[in-house]
Amino acid sequence: MNFQTLDTLDLKDKIVLLRADLNVPVKDGAVTDTTRIDRVKPTIDALISKGAKIVVMAHFGRPKGEAKPEFSLSFLPPVLETQWGRPVSFASDCIGENAQSEIAKLNAGDICLLENVRFHPGEEKNDPAFVKELAALGDVFVNDAFSAAHRAHASTEGLAHLLPSAAGKLMEAELNALNAALESPQKPVAAIVGGAKISTKLSVLNNLVQKTDFLILGGGMANTFMHACGIAIGNSLCEKDMAGEARTIEQTAKEHGCDIILPLDQIAVREFKENAPHEIAMSGEMKADQEGVDIGPQTISAISEILQECKTVLWNGPLGVFEMKPFDTGTNEVARIVAALTKSGQITSVAGGGDTVAALENAGIANDFTYISTAGGAFLEWLEGKKLPGVAALMSPSKAA
Ligand code: AMP
Repeated sequence: MNFQTLDTLDLKDKIVLLRADLNVPVKDGAVTDTTRIDRVKPTIDALISKGAKIVVMAHFGRPKGEAKPEFSLSFLPPVLETQWGRPVSFASDCIGENAQSEIAKLNAGDICLLENVRFHPGEEKNDPAFVKELAALGDVFVNDAFSAAHRAHASTEGLAHLLPSAAGKLMEAELNALNAALESPQKPVAAIVGGAKISTKLSVLNNLVQKTDFLILGGGMANTFMHACGIAIGNSLCEKDMAGEARTIEQTAKEHGCDIILPLDQIAVREFKENAPHEIAMSGEMKADQEGVDIGPQTISAISEILQECKTVLWNGPLGVFEMKPFDTGTNEVARIVAALTKSGQITSVAGGGDTVAALENAGIANDFTYISTAGGAFLEWLEGKKLPGVAALMSPSKAA
């Protein structure tokens, strides 16, 4: 992919406007998970080693274009200092005099965090006047917020048209991983898709059957496909009104040589609760009062056999009701198989979107995949085959620094 990275840029004494995703979870004023902050550190370190003056732009919550104190980023500099190991100053507005005077104090390697960019309505509207005010603050735009790249906002898209631009280290890693998984993957490619419903993932499924060799379906959504094929699914979660859509996806898969793999057996319960009594129901043998909550052992073996043949695996959505034990078994077992194949160098594995990260963390193997994307909405839009405005703007050759 043709985007500028930090490696080739001369940033000595340049003011870098770095867009980061610092929309961290907060409880009682304390950050409960620093993952998003930690993931930006390689970019911060690279910019420091290049002698840049770093101005961090970020959003926090949904203040809807107004300066609402509860969405202020003023609490964050001490946390950034701890996680990044450098002093971080704060500007109480992201444009104008206060931002300018704080930035003027920076020496090479110093960091200043700007107040929530969404305090100005121009941010989400990508208003050219607001983009201009932001651009006036710096020399180079570095975008490290893949998770916001599906939004054409001033600080995620607009700036790339006014300043020389590059992807930060996190954005670079994310784009390389996604490229290796779907745009130019090693074949055969398997997509594993689970989750509750097909209605929320129609575009994802339509895109995947055109680009992969196997579409392995699990979770609630597999029931809709089984129902569409006339297979009895008992009382399982099913979107009966989506049967036509499921058949269309199957037809598209056939036309593109993609095999759709449905469960051979499921774990069936009569009560939807943790540790509910359960039994294995073979496909088509589910009783009217039974509900499928996980894939069964034969399905796990069949998936394992397919994965042994593959070079690339893409995963979105749990294969069962992973929040209720032991119905996380199918997801965990398949996750362990993918992790082992990744560790042995046989496959490239990329996962992300919605509950997927939580499900794979629950399986205890999240670190063993090639790449796990924490960018929920942006990851799903990419799976749908959509062009992400924040990424497209970085590809524009005229803006290479
Ligand atoms: P999604 O956000 O679409 O990826 O869906 C994730 C949700 O699907 C999780 O909360 C799972 O509990 C749920 N899910 C997975 N498999 C099933 C199933 N067989 N029946 C009902 N819900 C399921």
